[in-house]
Amino acid sequence: MPELPEVETIANGLAKRVTGDVIESVWLGQKKEPLKSSASEMAATLEHSRILAVRRMGKHIVFDLDPAGQTTAPAKGRTSRSKLRHRTASTSRTAQGASSAPGRAQWIVHLGMTGRLQVCDPQTEVAKHTHAILRLSSGRELRFVDPRRFGRLSVRAGDFDAAGVEPLEIDLDRFLALFRGRKTPIKSALLNQSLLRGVGNIYADESLFRAGIRPRRRAATITREKFARLLNALQEVLREAIALGGSSISDYVNSDGEEGFFQLQHRVYGREAESCLVCKTPVKRVVIGGRSSHYCPKCQK
Ligand SMILES: [Zn+2]
Repeated sequence: MPELPEVETIANGLAKRVTGDVIESVWLGQKKEPLKSSASEMAATLEHSRILAVRRMGKHIVFDLDPAGQTTAPAKGRTSRSKLRHRTASTSRTAQGASSAPGRAQWIVHLGMTGRLQVCDPQTEVAKHTHAILRLSSGRELRFVDPRRFGRLSVRAGDFDAAGVEPLEIDLDRFLALFRGRKTPIKSALLNQSLLRGVGNIYADESLFRAGIRPRRRAATITREKFARLLNALQEVLREAIALGGSSISDYVNSDGEEGFFQLQHRVYGREAESCLVCKTPVKRVVIGGRSSHYCPKCQK
């Protein structure tokens, strides 16, 4: 399942390729699972809209749309592109401000387990399990392909706000407030999407290792100092992974249609029984809340 760094990488890649383009027409497949909005509502919102920005919110990819885009901007939409790209690259607070203007709409994509977005020429063979094709005024197509169909597509008028707080934007006081008094293991709390958005299994394990906290530790028993280390570690791990372009271990493709990302060097995740990179103790694997959790029994308390 793509995690925050992969989704960020994909959103940034898409932003570079489709910002400023206009969606001329939309084809939607027959399978109903991928569609959270009705096919007619989806088509009506997407068709003739200009893509103003593409950004990550939690694990969602959000396309900010101007429904009147086709009539209000130059034919190919290339002139305003650098300005729009700059906006995409700035903080999400700015981007949210941009999207709250009246008359805006959003296309929201969640990739699920195996979903991917492909930008390609119309001649490119349509992959099996293609559920949506957006034909763009630039002559290319944006396709959503998802063999296992856990991915979700929806449209919204106005502002979409995913649950939880962005882990890269939160400060220590807010971070502490999220976990205060929680009796659940810290690992489960980190994965709880209503608290933090977008933190998944790999980055939870890796940040707990860097902070020296066992995944089973109850959140309520962790000191402020340890939480400060955890927040630091979490942001460091996510930033490193984003810089590397996400650390996918599954079968999805980036927005250029290229497979594979550089992989963050995992220190504990997926290294059961291998020796800890710090102290050589064998890494342990336990299951917490149904999820595999990896930790060093000596370095993590
Ligand atoms: Zn160790």
